[in-house]
Amino acid sequence: MTDRDATTAAGNDALRAKYRAERDKRIRSDGNDQYIQPSGRFAHFLDDPYGERVEREPLTDEVTVALIGGGFAGLVTGAHLKQAGVTDVRIIEGGGDVGGAWYWNRYPGAQCDTAAMIYLPLLEETGHMPSQKYTLAPEIFAHAKRIATTFGLYDNALFSTEVTSLHWDHVTSRWIIGTNRGDEIRAQFVAMGTGPLHRPKLPGIAGIETFAGHSFHTSRWDYDYTGGSPAGAPLEKLADKRVGIIGTGATSVQCIPHLARAAQELFVFQRTPSSIDIRNNHPIEPDWFATLEAGWQKKWLENFAILQTGGFADEDLVKDGWTDISQRIRDRVVAEVTAGAEYTPETVERAFSESDDEKMTEIRARVDAIVADPETAEGLKPWYRQLCKRPCFHDEYLQAYNEPGAHLVDTDGKGVERIDETGVWVGGVHYELDCLIFASGFEVGTDYARRSGFETVGRNGLSLSDHWADGMQTLHGIHVQGFPNLFIVGPNQGANLISNITHNLTEAGQTIAMIVAHALDVGAAEVEATETAEQAWVERLATSTQSFLGNPDCTPGYYNNEGQELGRRERLNASGDPRGPIGYFEYIDQWRNSGEFEGLEFCPPR
Ligand code: NDP
Repeated sequence: MTDRDATTAAGNDALRAKYRAERDKRIRSDGNDQYIQPSGRFAHFLDDPYGERVEREPLTDEVTVALIGGGFAGLVTGAHLKQAGVTDVRIIEGGGDVGGAWYWNRYPGAQCDTAAMIYLPLLEETGHMPSQKYTLAPEIFAHAKRIATTFGLYDNALFSTEVTSLHWDHVTSRWIIGTNRGDEIRAQFVAMGTGPLHRPKLPGIAGIETFAGHSFHTSRWDYDYTGGSPAGAPLEKLADKRVGIIGTGATSVQCIPHLARAAQELFVFQRTPSSIDIRNNHPIEPDWFATLEAGWQKKWLENFAILQTGGFADEDLVKDGWTDISQRIRDRVVAEVTAGAEYTPETVERAFSESDDEKMTEIRARVDAIVADPETAEGLKPWYRQLCKRPCFHDEYLQAYNEPGAHLVDTDGKGVERIDETGVWVGGVHYELDCLIFASGFEVGTDYARRSGFETVGRNGLSLSDHWADGMQTLHGIHVQGFPNLFIVGPNQGANLISNITHNLTEAGQTIAMIVAHALDVGAAEVEATETAEQAWVERLATSTQSFLGNPDCTPGYYNNEGQELGRRERLNASGDPRGPIGYFEYIDQWRNSGEFEGLEFCPPR
C-alpha cells in the first residue's frame, strides 16, 4: 500500500490491516525466551574491554550508604546525599569507572537521543555547558566523571567490583554486601542503581555458537579489531572486512553510518526497521547559555515532562522529536474543542491516531527521499505506530544505505535463519562474514536478580525475586516492605518518564537523600515502608494506564513484552503513577518536604 491511500476511510482501514499484518508476522510464541545470555563461546562478551582491573585485598568494613552501580542513578543519589550532609557513601561498580550505560556503550556514534540540557543531570551544580543539543557518548561519560569528582564520589568507591550477594542482618540492622572480590561490606543503607538496560542479550539463532569469525556485542565494542575510537575516528581496520550486524534498534542506527563508511562490505540483518525521525543537532551557543537564569534546569525538565506527556505549556523549551507528536495531538484536540467538539477520551484517541498516522507517513516519505535504491527504501519503512518501538532520530543512518558497500538484508520480520562457521543465512542465502556484531539489545523482561546479577535477601530470608514473583511491589517505586533501609533508584512505579530517564533518577536521589538524612538525624536504625502503604500504592498502580508497555497490538519488542500477553506481573513491573510524571513529581516533592514521610516507619536501635 502507499501512504496516500491512508487519507481515505478505506485507506485508513488498509493502513490498520497493514500494521496488523506486519505485527502478526513477527509474533513468536517464545517471547523473551528467544534471547540467550552470553555464555560458553560468548562468555567473554561480559568482560570489560576498557578498564585495567587493579588487584586489591578483599575489604571487610562498614559504610553508612552503599550505592550499587555507578551510573547516573548511583551518582545523582550520591550527589544528593553529599549535599544533605551524608558523607560516608560508597559506590560499588562492576565497570572500571563511573558512567554505567555510558561506561559500557562506547560504540562509534553513540549519542543520547534526549536533549543534553535535560538529560545530563546536575548541570547547574557542576557548572557544565553541553557542547551541542544532543551530546555524544564521550561527553556524557565525561559528565558522569564530573559529577563523581564534584561531589567526592570517587573517594571510597570500588570499581571492577561486582556485587554477588546482598543480605539483611536483622541483628545489627545492616546490609551485608558480598562481591566477586571477596569483600564483605556492611552498610546501614543501600541504594540500588543497577540500571534498566544493563545485561546484554543475544538472539537465540540456530548455530550462533558455531560462528568462527570475530564477534562482539555493541556494549563491549572491540576497537582493537575495528580500529577507530569512541570519539569518532574512522574504523580503518575494517577496510578489508566483510562485516555483519544483527539488529536495527537505537544502538545499530547510531553505529551503522560508521560501519558503512569503513567496512569493505556491510550486511545489516534486519527483522524490524526502526522509525528514523530528523535529528537536527546543533551546537549550544555559550552566549545564549550564559543568559539562562539560576534554576533553569528544573524549569526545562518540567517543561519537557509536561509537553511530552500531553500537558499544556506556554512554550516548548526542548522542541524535538519527543515533544513533536504530543504537540500535534494537543493542537488537534484544541482545534476540535474550539470548533465545538466535546473533550472526551475519544477526542484524544482520534487526535492521537491522526497525529501518529501523519508522523509515520512523514517518516516513511523521508526514507523514499533519502535512500536511492527503491527496494532498500521499501525495506526500511516502519509499519507501526511511532511509539510501538523506541523512536530513533538520525541524519546519517538512512544515507548510510547509499554507500556502495552497504547492504540491507531484510528478513521480512522473520529474523536471521541460521548462523554457521563462516556467516549468516537468510532466505536460503549465505552471507560470508569476517566479523559479526550483535546489536541485539539488553534484557528487559527477565527477573530483577538475573538483570542485576545478584539476589537481594531481606527480612526473614525473603528474596526480592520471591517477593516480586507476581510483579514489582514498592512504595513510590523506591521502598520495598520487608527490605528495610533499601532504596530502588529507577523510573518504574514512580514517574515512569522513559523519554528522560535521568529526571526520574534525580528526583529519586533527592527523595532518598532526604530520608537517609532524616533517619540519621532522629537516630533511627531502620526505615521501612509499612505493608498498608505499599499495598495501597500497588493497588493505585494496578489501575494505572501509565506504563511503558505499549499496546499489545504493536509490533513486538521490549516496549510491549515482545507481544506476549500482559499479565498483572508485567503491568506492575512497568507501571507508573496514574497521575503521570508531573503528578508524581509534584506529589513526591510535597511528600518529602512535609517531613512526615507518611507510609514509612522509622525504628530506633534495638
Ligand atoms: P534493541 O533491543 O532496541 O534492538 C535489538 C535489535 O535486535 C532489534 O532490531 C531486534 O529486532 C533485533 N533482533 C533480535 N533478534 C533478532 C534476530 N533473530 N534476527 C534479526 N534481528 C534480531 O537494542 P538496542 O541496543 O538497539 O537498544 C536498546 C535500548 O537502549 C534502546 O531502546 C534505548 O532505550 C537505549 N538506547 C538509548 C540510546 C539513547 O539515545 N539514549 C542510544 C542507544 C540505545 P526486532 O525489532 O524485530 O525485535
